Amino acid sequence: MVNMSTKKAPKPDHEAIIALERERLSTLINSMADAVIAVDEHQKIAIYNGAALSILDVNKALTGKRIHTLMHLINKNNQPIDIEELIERSKTPFSSRDMRLEYPNNDTINLYLSIAPVHLGYGTGGQRGHVLLIRDITREKSLEEERNEFISVVSHELRTPIAIAEGNIGNAQFMAEKSSEIPLDVKKSLDAAHEQVVFLGGMINDLATLSRAERGKLVAEIEPINVTEVLSTIEKDYQPQATKKGLNLTVKLDPHLELLKSSKLYVEEILQNFVTNAIKYTDTGGITIMSHHKKDGVLIEIIDTGIGISKADQQKVFDKFFRSEDFRTRQSNGTGLGLYVTVKLAHLVNAEIDVKSELNKGSVFSVYFPNLQ
Ligand code: ADP
Repeated sequence: MVNMSTKKAPKPDHEAIIALERERLSTLINSMADAVIAVDEHQKIAIYNGAALSILDVNKALTGKRIHTLMHLINKNNQPIDIEELIERSKTPFSSRDMRLEYPNNDTINLYLSIAPVHLGYGTGGQRGHVLLIRDITREKSLEEERNEFISVVSHELRTPIAIAEGNIGNAQFMAEKSSEIPLDVKKSLDAAHEQVVFLGGMINDLATLSRAERGKLVAEIEPINVTEVLSTIEKDYQPQATKKGLNLTVKLDPHLELLKSSKLYVEEILQNFVTNAIKYTDTGGITIMSHHKKDGVLIEIIDTGIGISKADQQKVFDKFFRSEDFRTRQSNGTGLGLYVTVKLAHLVNAEIDVKSELNKGSVFSVYFPNLQ
C-alpha cells in the first residue's frame, strides 16, 4: 500500500540560507592567501578580504573607499601608474608581473596584479565593476633577477675560454687534415670535440641573450636594412652546412623588396635561428627562404622538407627549454632555447612569428618584420 500522506517539510528560512551562503563566500575569500578586492563602477571598494588589508598595509575598513587612494602603483621605470585608468581600460581580463606597489614611506613590493571585469550583482541594480587579485611576488622577482644576473655573468666569463678552445681545436683539425701520419681515430676525435665546443658556444650565446632579454637589457638599434643583402649573406654562410648534409639551400628574393627599418642585429639573429633549425631538422630535400614585400614591411618564410612538428608540439616549440620527444630531434644537440630567444628578439622589433608544419613533410616558419619608427 502506498502511503499517500503528504506531510509538508518545514519551509526553509530564505533569509537564513542567504546568510549562510554569504558567510560561506566570505570565509572562502578570507581564507585566500592572495588579496582580492572588488570595486564598483565608481572605483569604490565593494568587497575585500583579509589579505587585501595586509598587502595594502591598512587596518581599517576599506568599503566605500576609492581604490586610487589606497594603491599607488609604479612601473619598471618608477613612473606612477594610474590604477583607476588601468581598471577603466580593462574591458577583458588583464594581468601583469611588472608593477610595484609603493607605500607612503616609499618602500615598494613587486606585484602580480590581475584585473577582471565582473558583473558584481550586489545592490539592487546588480552593478558592474572589476575584481582585482593581488600577490606579493617580491621574493620570486629577486630570485629571478639573481638567476638572470648569474647566468649573464657566467655566460660572459665562459665566452673567452670557449672561443680559445674552439680556435685551437680548429687549428689542430686543420693540421691533422694535412698530415698523413695522424691516425683517422684522432681526426675523428678532433671533429667530435670541435662539434661539441661549437655547440657549447652556441648555448652560451643563447643563455647570454636570454638573460639580457629577461632583464630588459636588450635595445633595438633601428637602421635601414638591405634585406636582399642579409638573405644573400645567410645563403652564403649556411650553404656549406646544408651541402654537408646533402640538402639544397635556396633563397628566393622578391625583386620589390625595399629597405627595411629595423634592427639588423636582431633580424639576422632571428633568421639565423630559423635557418639553423631548418638544416638541423631536415635529412632529405632542402630549405627554401622566400621573401615578400608585405604591407609596410617584409615577410620571410623559411620552408623545409624536414621531420615536421606534430600539432601538439607546435603549441610548445616557442616555450623555454622545449625539445620534441621525437627521436629524430634527439639525434641532434639542442637546448630548446633557440626559438624562445627568437620570440624575445621578435618582440623587440615588433615582428610576428608563425609556424605551419606537418609531421614527416616539413615546416614553414614565417616572420613578418614591420618598418619601425
Ligand atoms: P633546439 O633546436 O635547441 O632544440 P629550439 O628552441 O630552436 O631548440 O627548437 C625547439 C624545438 O622545436 C626543437 O627541439 C624541435 O623539436 C622543434 N623544431 C624547431 N624547428 C624545427 C624544424 N624546422 N623542424 C622540426 N622541428 C623543429
